[in-house]
Amino acid sequence: MAKKRIILDLTDEKDGVTGTGQYLNAIFPGKVLCGIAGYTKNIPFLVDCGSFQGLDNIDQLNTTFNFDITSPEFSILTHAHLDHYGRYPLAMSQGFHAPVFTTYPTKTFLSEVFLQDCLKIEKRRAKKLDAQSLYTETEIQEFEHCMVPCNFNQKIVYNHNITIHFFDNGHVPGAAVTLITISYPDCEDMNIVITGDYNNRNDFFQVKPLPEWIYELPNVSVIIEATYGGTKSSDLREKCFIDNVVRALSEGKTCIVPAFSFGRTQEVLYKLKIAQDMCILPPRFEIFLDGKTAIHTTSLFQNGAFKMHPNAKDFLPDNLTIVEDKTMRNFLIHENYLPKIFVSSSGSGSYGPSQTYINKYMNNPMAMIHATGHIFPDSKLGRLRDDDSIVAQFFDTDEFSAHAKQEVLVDFVKPFKNLKSVFIHHGEDESKKELAYSLKEICNASIHILSSNKVFRMISDGTSEEFPRFSDSNVPIR
Ligand SMILES: [Zn+2]
Ligand SMILES: [Zn+2]
Repeated sequence: MAKKRIILDLTDEKDGVTGTGQYLNAIFPGKVLCGIAGYTKNIPFLVDCGSFQGLDNIDQLNTTFNFDITSPEFSILTHAHLDHYGRYPLAMSQGFHAPVFTTYPTKTFLSEVFLQDCLKIEKRRAKKLDAQSLYTETEIQEFEHCMVPCNFNQKIVYNHNITIHFFDNGHVPGAAVTLITISYPDCEDMNIVITGDYNNRNDFFQVKPLPEWIYELPNVSVIIEATYGGTKSSDLREKCFIDNVVRALSEGKTCIVPAFSFGRTQEVLYKLKIAQDMCILPPRFEIFLDGKTAIHTTSLFQNGAFKMHPNAKDFLPDNLTIVEDKTMRNFLIHENYLPKIFVSSSGSGSYGPSQTYINKYMNNPMAMIHATGHIFPDSKLGRLRDDDSIVAQFFDTDEFSAHAKQEVLVDFVKPFKNLKSVFIHHGEDESKKELAYSLKEICNASIHILSSNKVFRMISDGTSEEFPRFSDSNVPIR
């Protein structure tokens, strides 16, 4: 009689630089025939369910699913970024009510701040199209109820076939590297390690390495992100943010610093604080923080939403003022001519008070606009960067990136002793290819770039294969 084997099928829900969602299906051996001869039950599950950004067909991508969204029995949410959680409320409105395992800080950030943002974005989209919102406060609350907050470094038992562990990840507070172990009597375990968006360090908290025992596990497959898969640390430009800000202020200019609300804003404030402590940035220059979500998120950082490094607790710079409302913003813009710093959301410049500051200052020779994140070409900052007619100074920098560079990603994969497959996703095509190339040089595992057109089948005896996904099928894997 043939040896029993577990099958695990994996497909990317849709292709995109961001906008993450993987559909997996664990198929177990048994006596009753179902779908595949000799296999009896299956547990479909979902890793992340994010929104897409900056694509032509973005509306279609963000309002649909490429599979039966009611079928996953559970889900893993790797962290609280919109491109990973943005479509869960939509999933709720279409009948998905499964538990979503995530970490305590991720649930806190979502419940306290970001889910309301998500609802605002959907309402804005519906208004623009003169259509009904696809979900409401009810679905937001349903999603909150579905989230199962978990501790790091603890075994979470989903059922007797599946266990989950969350480990440290420096990408943003609450982000986790996830291990899913799939077991069945008389079969070898299968172990899936999911990096989510990944970094091995963070200014605000300690990022412990993975425990040694994880490297000894049998049948390991890694799903790894590749945002900077083609970038080596040595490719990065010199750090310039503080120098640019200090120079502009000394020339009497006002600095506009658009920053993403979660992580980036707090990192920018912390950098300004360190510059003050080192007497590089004179504390007489006022710093203003504007943007409801950024202000609220900053207060969650202060109020212990996650375990912060003791040195980082005092991260707010001196002479920092919160911009309370439009009246105060208008006063600062129109009646305060002193050189100062505005840190405001959004980081793309396309939403929130950043738009107001950019519009007001872009043609002012006494202003400097400093991007702090990736610039999408069709964002406000993207258009500004490519517009030679603007008068204000414009700078950008890659020094704030929350994603690991190529060598860190390669080092993540290297120590697994029983690595069978690596699946690459999240990033430009070129970055994925370059990461695949450098991984091929260091390991014997089969390296795949995830795609929504293919199903990748892993088997507990260590073999794997891939085959086309039928695009008209709602349930991709049977
Ligand atoms: Zn992401
Ligand atoms: Zn992220």
